[in-house]
Amino acid sequence: MRRRRRWVARTDAPRVIVVGAGFAGLAAVAELARAGMQVMLVDRNVYSTFQPLLYQVATAGLNPGDVVYSARAFTRRHGARFRLGELAGIDAVGRRVRLADGGEFEYDYLVLATGVSAAYYGVRGAAENSLGLYTRRDAVALRDHIMARLERLDIAGPGKDVNFTIVGGGATGVELAGALAELRETALDAAFPEVDLASVHITLVEMAPVLLTPFDPALQDYARQELVRRGVEVRLSTEIREVTPDCVLLANGEDLPSDVTIWAAGVAAPAGAGAWGLPQGRGGRILTGPDLRVHGQDRVFAAGDIALVDGLPLPQLAQPAIQSGRHAARQVERLVKGRATAPLLYHDKGIMATVGRRSAVVQLPHGVRARGTLAWLAWLGLHLVTLLGGRNRLSALINLSWRYVSWGHGGGVIVGDDPPPGPGPGRPGE
Ligand SMILES: Cc1cc2nc3c(=O)[nH]c(=O)nc-3n(C[C@H](O)[C@H](O)[C@H](O)COP(=O)(O)OP(=O)(O)OC[C@H]3O[C@@H](n4cnc5c(N)ncnc54)[C@H](O)[C@@H]3O)c2cc1C
Repeated sequence: MRRRRRWVARTDAPRVIVVGAGFAGLAAVAELARAGMQVMLVDRNVYSTFQPLLYQVATAGLNPGDVVYSARAFTRRHGARFRLGELAGIDAVGRRVRLADGGEFEYDYLVLATGVSAAYYGVRGAAENSLGLYTRRDAVALRDHIMARLERLDIAGPGKDVNFTIVGGGATGVELAGALAELRETALDAAFPEVDLASVHITLVEMAPVLLTPFDPALQDYARQELVRRGVEVRLSTEIREVTPDCVLLANGEDLPSDVTIWAAGVAAPAGAGAWGLPQGRGGRILTGPDLRVHGQDRVFAAGDIALVDGLPLPQLAQPAIQSGRHAARQVERLVKGRATAPLLYHDKGIMATVGRRSAVVQLPHGVRARGTLAWLAWLGLHLVTLLGGRNRLSALINLSWRYVSWGHGGGVIVGDDPPPGPGPGRPGE
């Protein structure tokens, strides 16, 4: 019989609990395990989610399993331990965490890397009547709602319309709007021949005067033009007052009919973060010093999207999460060796977003800019390379090739179930 690999750290090594199996949490686990600590990773899901490709799941291009990776496979590979559970409370004095299922664990150091969820900015009805896109569940629910709406359009016959509204013109909103436009162009034609393409409306609403705020103005303009060329109605400088089950009400008094409203604007700490007893800043995110130690705590760190770092306004992206997760782990190591902590120095490696097939924008340091097919190939390559797991990379490659190579010849969509009646999955971001 094959020998089973077990916990490899020394049993007197410091115990570190990492909460959250996202980019920041996994980077922290790998670094801490390498340094010989006893590491336990806690997540409310048994997998790590590759959020950058969730919109492909939501638009029926990738299978849900393509974008998640077993947290246990990761911890096993690194000689760490995994515990399924939701963080419910922290006793920083007694150095214990409490999970929602009643489990309690002691730690010497704690790294919080729980990521963020949607922020609704007090817009009436937004949480109840829109769908989010933060988790695998969100993506599956959204895909099922989108496909169900197209089926209903087919059943209703000529003269009926369906309206998809995306709120938020950041990378997620732009990518989703572009992918929906592609779905309309390829899948509708092939799978719903009786449905008139003109009866499917896609609207992207953004409060700022531009899309993709962190990008260069020329790239912002290119992304907007590409969306418009693909038949997306882009409404900039547009504020939303309320979301109802079938409508988006704008601050200027206008009503936009909306059968499926997707909320892709803003970020806030996950529900329940208020019960951790830690200092919170904008959106409930956890306040840390430059070394990522939570304000007022000497053994608790925060990394990734959940951390609001003094004097370092990091974007909510994969690279800052990876670099901060690794940095938090290195500071634990320094403290264990009796050394002083150091501030995080962020290395900007650039940003990218895609609009759709053969269309993306890339902005690298030192003024390097790219757009169009080259940028799209760079986007595609990077996303496939950074996906966790060889099997995921292969299946994502096959599914994306199917989507983009079979362009206009069927574009077979991945389908699920007809969702239960009601506007959304209930609690986006969980
Ligand atoms: C749709 C979408 C598209 C994106 N596209 C890009 C992109 O193209 N490029 C890019 O760089 N960035 C992109 N981002 C942003 C990027 O994914 C995030 O910045 C990054 O995932 C943050 O990493 P993190 O480790 O802080 O959190 P996450 O990756 O969100 O991981 C947090 C983990 O914590 C767990 N968790 C949460 N609360 C609890 C709790 N109470 N108890 C236990 N576990 C908990 C969650 O289950 C999750 O596994 C995108 C984000 C989204 C939502």
